[in-house]
Amino acid sequence: MWIVFLGPPGAGKGTQANRLIEFLGIPHLSTGEVLRQVVRDQTAESQLVANFLDQGLLVPDELVMKVVLEILQSPKYERGVLFDGFPRTIVQAEQLDAFLRGMGKRIDVVLNLEVEESELIRRMLSRSKKEGRHDDNHATIRSRLRVFHDQTAPLIDYYDWNGLVEHIDGMRSSDEVFADIQNRIIKRQTPSQAMH
Ligand code: ADP
Repeated sequence: MWIVFLGPPGAGKGTQANRLIEFLGIPHLSTGEVLRQVVRDQTAESQLVANFLDQGLLVPDELVMKVVLEILQSPKYERGVLFDGFPRTIVQAEQLDAFLRGMGKRIDVVLNLEVEESELIRRMLSRSKKEGRHDDNHATIRSRLRVFHDQTAPLIDYYDWNGLVEHIDGMRSSDEVFADIQNRIIKRQTPSQAMH
């Protein structure tokens, strides 16, 4: 299955994504993780990418698409992917659609994890203590939330138009959210997808 996981920063996508890939047996592609690795690898692009991450701004589409499409060439991703934090702009979504179309595939479902803003801020600040993520500070969190509303939230309409979106209430316990996600996925699986 080809799944897009949408939701604001701090909504708990990472946690749910890890459970979901185990359940479905498909790989996870988190562009946030991929880009943090680009920074660690100290390539020619590292400093540029680090500046965007530290400001809570989106890395330019062209660079993100280059990295993602390169990763998707690997046979590991032939049978499906759980995209987490990607696409984040309409341009990225259109280019992903074009890429999948070229392979005779398409997005099967979009999970939209919904959490109230005050709870998002609380979760990100608590995560910053546990994981020490550079971009989990007040100023960057505000900027990431603004970027989400301005650039990523429009994707909900983009995918809704095709009837692909499942709205998930993320204000519940992790187990309740996961059970809900599992049910929505099962409902949308074709018989051959369910067999894997
Ligand atoms: P979160 O959603 O919790 O902010 P992510 O790990 O998904 O965390 O992303 C961290 C940062 O990585 C973002 O603030 C952004 O700078 C960058 N990023 C991740 N994915 C993308 C993408 N698809 N397009 C552009 N920038 C991205």
